[in-house]
Amino acid sequence: MISSSFYEYVDRENIDPDLICRICRSPLIDPILVQCGDTYCRLCIEKYMGSGSNCPSQLCNQLLSTDHLTPNPPPRLVISILDKLQVRCQLCKKTNINRGTFDEHIKTSCSEYRIDCPGKNIGCQWFGPRNVYDEHTQTCLFEKLRPMVDILYKVIENQRLDIEKLQKQTEQQTTEIGQQKTEIELQKTKLEQQTTELGQLNTQVAQQKAQLEQQKTELGQQKIEIELKKSKFEQLEAQLQQQPIRIGGIQSQNQNQNHEILSIRQQITTLEEEMNKPRSAIHWLSK
Ligand SMILES: [Zn+2]
Ligand SMILES: [Zn+2]
Ligand SMILES: [Zn+2]
Ligand SMILES: [Zn+2]
Repeated sequence: MISSSFYEYVDRENIDPDLICRICRSPLIDPILVQCGDTYCRLCIEKYMGSGSNCPSQLCNQLLSTDHLTPNPPPRLVISILDKLQVRCQLCKKTNINRGTFDEHIKTSCSEYRIDCPGKNIGCQWFGPRNVYDEHTQTCLFEKLRPMVDILYKVIENQRLDIEKLQKQTEQQTTEIGQQKTEIELQKTKLEQQTTELGQLNTQVAQQKAQLEQQKTELGQQKIEIELKKSKFEQLEAQLQQQPIRIGGIQSQNQNQNHEILSIRQQITTLEEEMNKPRSAIHWLSK
């Protein structure tokens, strides 16, 4: 609602007292009913309530709170009568305007109402009455520059969008770089661990190598001993292989000796028999 300071009532003295607000003593604006039956301008009663006052109704006088306001709209007839109150524009002095249409008068037709140049957003500071507005806009330098300014605004807007995009990209890249940094640090830690482990493994390998070399030396000695034993064994084996031949020799000697013994025995037997012959002859002779 346009401030009521732009108009005055045409026939103020003859306006029905029932239409007057008891707070501001003017015809009601945006009236509101209170529980005790009176009607006030909405702004007036709200201001009153805000200051912690009691109800201005003479018969009521209780402390004002939102509970004391009613949600009921005032009668349509009252609104209609208020809208038809006649006012005079204090700017252009036009008179007999319905109060209900005064806002529209100011917004669209009051010749003295001061408005901004449409070029205000590009720098024109002209602020003047509507009746010279057309004249100004036709000569306004800012308005003449508008096509170029519009282009520049578009360029600036595009650059702004580009900058926003770049900022988002930069933020994304910053996040990604942060993540990569974290990963690299993790991998670095792992590498350091692995380096330590490799060092330990190297030490172990060196120890095992030393042990293996010791074992190699021991094995070499054992090999020499085994070879010695092997050659001794081979000598023994060769000796053993020669013994059956000797045994064969000994056996055949034994057989020969056996034959000889046999023939000696036979000779002995024969000799005994030969000897027995004279004995028996002697025996016989001695009888
Ligand atoms: Zn009032
Ligand atoms: Zn009251
Ligand atoms: Zn006017
Ligand atoms: Zn201008």
